[in-house]
Amino acid sequence: MKAEIHPTYYADAMVTCACGNTFTVGSTRKTIRVEICSRCHPFFTGEQRIVDTAGQVERFMRRLEARRQHAGEAGESPEQPGQTNAPAGS
Ligand SMILES: [Zn+2]
Repeated sequence: MKAEIHPTYYADAMVTCACGNTFTVGSTRKTIRVEICSRCHPFFTGEQRIVDTAGQVERFMRRLEARRQHAGEAGESPEQPGQTNAPAGS
């Protein structure tokens, strides 16, 4: 390695997640703060949970509901995907 051009490497940089989990990685930063990690991300936990950051899911559900009501007033629903697409729970 060329001298004096590389940043300090911390072999045991502490990563702190918003869920409380901590672990160490190699990094040029001493501490790292993350909001999601392999302990709490739905992909790794296997649970059906949506990581909604800006209320986008809620917004979509409102629009979907408005569309359903509109279709109901029209008397027929042109392409009803079926109720199985509705997510379980609230
Ligand atoms: Zn986490």
